[in-house]
Amino acid sequence: MAYTYDDTNIFAKILRGEIPNKTVLETEHSLAFEDIAPQAPIHVLVIPKGPYVSYDHFAQAASDAEIVDFTRTIGQVCEKLGLQPPSGNGFRAISNTGAHGVQEVPHLHVHILGGRMLGRMLQRAE
Ligand code: AMP
Repeated sequence: MAYTYDDTNIFAKILRGEIPNKTVLETEHSLAFEDIAPQAPIHVLVIPKGPYVSYDHFAQAASDAEIVDFTRTIGQVCEKLGLQPPSGNGFRAISNTGAHGVQEVPHLHVHILGGRMLGRMLQRAE
């Protein structure tokens, strides 16, 4: 599978320092920052610093070091924000991809949502 990465997307601009972000955590290969339009009291986006469009692209093309770093950063963000049960009340991690996933920004990101009861995962579209 060939993937095309468009480096004009907004998260690429954040990574280049062209637009600001509210950083929660930064590591060698990953950046976590607050979502600009939060859907819950806690809404953080975790992105790899490398040019990956989606989770499947990342899984196919990223190095082991990037994959380990990204996965651990997600866990560290949840820990830092106090979301992990049993002391915390839990969270949801979502990565939207493509048209059916309703992905707006074509740079891999995992949404970390928490701080309120989030309800069932999906509403059935009849
Ligand atoms: P998605 O629909 O999964 O691609 O999610 C894209 C997310 O990026 C949305 O939740 C937006 O609110 C968020 N977003 C867009 N621009 C920015 C920005 N400059 N800083 C932080 N979050 C942003």
